[in-house]
Amino acid sequence: MPTANDGVMIILSSPSGAGKTTLVRMLSQQPNFEISVSHTTRQPRKNEIQNKDYYFVNEIEFKRLIKNEEFLEYAKVFNNLYGTTRTPVIDKLNKGKNVLFDIDWQGADQIKNKKLDYKLITFYILPPSKNVLFERLSDRHMDDKSLVEERMNQFSRDVLHWINYDYVVINDELNNCFKKISNLIDAEINNGSKDYDIEFIRKHVEKLTF
Ligand code: 5GP
Repeated sequence: MPTANDGVMIILSSPSGAGKTTLVRMLSQQPNFEISVSHTTRQPRKNEIQNKDYYFVNEIEFKRLIKNEEFLEYAKVFNNLYGTTRTPVIDKLNKGKNVLFDIDWQGADQIKNKKLDYKLITFYILPPSKNVLFERLSDRHMDDKSLVEERMNQFSRDVLHWINYDYVVINDELNNCFKKISNLIDAEINNGSKDYDIEFIRKHVEKLTF
């Protein structure tokens, strides 16, 4: 049974290349914050560690988890399946840990619609411009130009989901962005005043989608 001492759920979503995974790692360094480790059917990348970055599983195992209703949410993203299992999340929240989710807009929608008794704060991270996004994606996928193009096209569709999030934060400079998110979480948990200008964000999205 959820109580006032429970942790809060914090979702970070973003179009690919906006720097969300780094931000989630930075936030998880704060006392009492833990990352929810997702399951995925995608292949591990170099440097990724099984059971730390993801639980890498095959489709059969993923479908078994769906059938057993173990997922709090799951979705297909870029042709792979991704999902968050319920039990580890609820256990962490009940122990008072704040749980960070690095999931896409489909997963965020599903968790929102579950209306769990735990406090939920949702963030959408945006790049400062399309040019910066293009550069970041090109650096990341140096050997695959078509992937960069695919992610840029996907960006134009993904960005439209910003409206469903509590806060949209622009990742212009990593430490700056981290501080903004961290201050907003703090204000949400402690009922403090929030430094947030939605009109500024609306104009930024217009620029990005023009
Ligand atoms: P990547 O393959 O680059 O690690 O992740 C691709 C996308 O899948 C990212 O937008 C990431 O946030 C999202 N993602 C990762 N884990 C989950 C999950 O458990 N559920 C959902 N819905 N999306 C996820």
